[in-house]
Amino acid sequence: MESRIAKDFHWEMGHRLPFHQGGCQNIHGHSYTMRVEIVGSIDPATGMVIDYFDMKALVQPLIDRLDHSFLLDSSDAILMEFFKHHPMKVNTVDFYSTAENIAHYMLQELIPGFERFSNVSELRIRLRETENTFAEAVHVYNN
Ligand SMILES: [Zn+2]
Repeated sequence: MESRIAKDFHWEMGHRLPFHQGGCQNIHGHSYTMRVEIVGSIDPATGMVIDYFDMKALVQPLIDRLDHSFLLDSSDAILMEFFKHHPMKVNTVDFYSTAENIAHYMLQELIPGFERFSNVSELRIRLRETENTFAEAVHVYNN
């Protein structure tokens, strides 16, 4: 018997898209939410796919690392220079900080942690930077 379970996470983060023409080139932030969904067989001994407590233990350190930070695209020469002289909580990445790319980044960061749960067959990230939009990234485990 399989089930899909999910837990939502929230954090605040600044970013900008240097190439954008419609407003996102300006420094701004979002109240990000991320739904972490997993599909897996229900363990008859516990009645669970995995314990939400274990899920939180895997995901929260990543959220804590990102919360109240600036997600800095390493190709953004202006802000790379700025943060060199004004140290703040920054996470430097090598991609444009779009919702699509952040969803894939979160997925890549979380894939290894769920590997030890041999009953988990799929990990899905649904990332929202506004209430009206989301981006998804999916990994299928070959167990
Ligand atoms: Zn934005």
